[in-house]
Amino acid sequence: MIVVMSPNSTKDQLDHVVKMVEEMGLSTHLIHGTNRTVVAAVGDKRMLDKGAVENAPGVEKIVPILSPYKVASREVKQENTAIALQPNGFKIGEKKIGVIAGPCSVEDRSRLFQIADAVKEAGGMGLRGGAFKPRTSPYSFQGLAEQGLEYLAEARERTGLAIVTEVLTVTHVDLVARYADVLQIGARNMQNYMLLKAVGEQSKPILLKRGMSATMEEFLLAAEYIIDAGNPNIILCERGIRTFEDYSRNTLALSVVPAIKRVSHLPIIVDPTHGTGHAYLVESMSLAAVAAGADGLMIEVHPEPEHALSDAAQQIDIAQFHQLMQRAARVAQAVGREI
Ligand code: PEP
Ligand code: MN
Repeated sequence: MIVVMSPNSTKDQLDHVVKMVEEMGLSTHLIHGTNRTVVAAVGDKRMLDKGAVENAPGVEKIVPILSPYKVASREVKQENTAIALQPNGFKIGEKKIGVIAGPCSVEDRSRLFQIADAVKEAGGMGLRGGAFKPRTSPYSFQGLAEQGLEYLAEARERTGLAIVTEVLTVTHVDLVARYADVLQIGARNMQNYMLLKAVGEQSKPILLKRGMSATMEEFLLAAEYIIDAGNPNIILCERGIRTFEDYSRNTLALSVVPAIKRVSHLPIIVDPTHGTGHAYLVESMSLAAVAAGADGLMIEVHPEPEHALSDAAQQIDIAQFHQLMQRAARVAQAVGREI
């Protein structure tokens, strides 16, 4: 249920409504729009005495929410949400499209700095790189762990780029949050509900990747877990789903971008690298993502992709990244955005 406060309601009236709803055993989320505030009441709706709340001073109306995700839905908040990233203050979800790029894994310090400098020069706002890697095989390179996080933090000092890196397990949340500006939840963990709750209990923004077999509704319910635990700063990321198709590593479901924008206020970015699994497909799918309305791109870049310790087939080199950025800027302009 959403309690819509009237535009001229007072702070005391709002506090009173929140108290009433909470006394009924429901949790509340406040959403401050441009004209009015709404109180999303989440929980078992049989507990809500609708009439009592409707009569409270300052309440305009009560609206039932139809979608299973509530605080992530546009029914609760009509305006787009933009997420501000440290250290540069860049806001994902506004006119300017945010590009997060970097290696699949952090491999060594000097190579990471080389990539970070190139990402910065080409106009990216974030540096990605896995320190803890979710690898399909236990024998594959697993990442540099805390050493990798330290290199990422040094690269932020050097470039001012926001650091985006994956957290694999609940026990690493504090560690990763000490170094990163954005905590990535990978596709394999999108339905790890304990991890979703744990990252919801800290305040750094979350980049939530779509699970490879998740429906749009399951994707948004995963976001709902994080918001419900207390962290509303979520950037969704489409990274391709598993289908019968095998010419690409995954099938990049770009139509989820406008579909999510229709039902949710959260920003969504696209990862055409994991979405296709082949370097030659990354530029065209990046341009298509921008045209489809994505708020950002996440791209794997490596100075020598053939020598990369993970995901060698899909990483583009620095020259290809520069070209992609220039072309994406032209598409962005054509659809009323900027890069
Ligand atoms: C990644 O971005 O490093 C990654 C492992 O991606 P995904 O979780 O989408 O497979
Ligand atoms: Mn990768």
